[in-house]
Amino acid sequence: MTAKKAEAAGKAAPAKRAASARKAAPVKKAAPVKKTAAKSPAGESRTALVRRARRINRELAEVYPYAHPELDFDDPFQLLVATVLSAQTTDLRVNQTTPALFAEYPTPEDLAVADPEKVEEILRPCGFFRAKTRSVIGLSKALAEDFGGEVPGRLEDLVKLPGVGRKTAFVVLGNAFGRPGITVDTHFQRLVRRWKWTGETDPDKIEAAVGALFPKSDWTDLSHHVIWHGRRICHARRPACGACPIAPLCPAYGEGETDPEKARKLLKYEKGGLPGQRLKPPRAYLDAGGRPAPPLGSG
Ligand code: SF4
Repeated sequence: MTAKKAEAAGKAAPAKRAASARKAAPVKKAAPVKKTAAKSPAGESRTALVRRARRINRELAEVYPYAHPELDFDDPFQLLVATVLSAQTTDLRVNQTTPALFAEYPTPEDLAVADPEKVEEILRPCGFFRAKTRSVIGLSKALAEDFGGEVPGRLEDLVKLPGVGRKTAFVVLGNAFGRPGITVDTHFQRLVRRWKWTGETDPDKIEAAVGALFPKSDWTDLSHHVIWHGRRICHARRPACGACPIAPLCPAYGEGETDPEKARKLLKYEKGGLPGQRLKPPRAYLDAGGRPAPPLGSG
């Protein structure tokens, strides 16, 4: 996307296109303007990029104040296994699968000695079930043999476990140990590229580039905000631009449906008036009515 298109996007996305955009404070007209001082993929200065990126995160924090991991888990082991299983499938599918797995194999020691064929049968709905079975049994063996049956709380230990990369490790560190981390999944990659936060394509480089735009303390919540936005509004094939609350800040406005009514029909999960992905969200994530998230329009 060129700076010119980005600038045009800023003008072409008046706040009236989305109800929640009306609530947003006035936004500086078109961020990417200084072509001669271009330092970001959008052609804006570094300072302008940092300001715009943080503004997007603040806006998303208002849209998704309840954003949290969408995998059901009771402890770090369950989160680790569920995250490994979530590759190439939805969190909902994993949440429908893991109760049977953890009922049969509640600890790393149990799963370490499991019959692979039985585990494969349980994991079949998650896809790639043979590889995922090898990973979860392998990482359980490593936990049992090398870490006393506990999930380690250090990145360098986690990434040595079978099937565990930096993305999985940061999910676990951020959500089970409270240590800041950026989760570069498919949604994160797509959205930060649309927003011109970085031109990198390698996940590790994206992580470093985006991490440099934010204080470390923001990293985990930022990851949730971006991923939730990707799942609900800024879809891969048809982003709902006409119902997007950060449209005035987005250089890619117009890549998707811009008609507000048609765009609203593209919204997913609670933004589309439907349930979320968690089957047993913790009490902290429920509203007064016991629902997983506020209804459409209240965020
Ligand atoms: S939905 Fe459209 S306007 Fe919103 S972030 Fe995605 S591409 Fe940008």
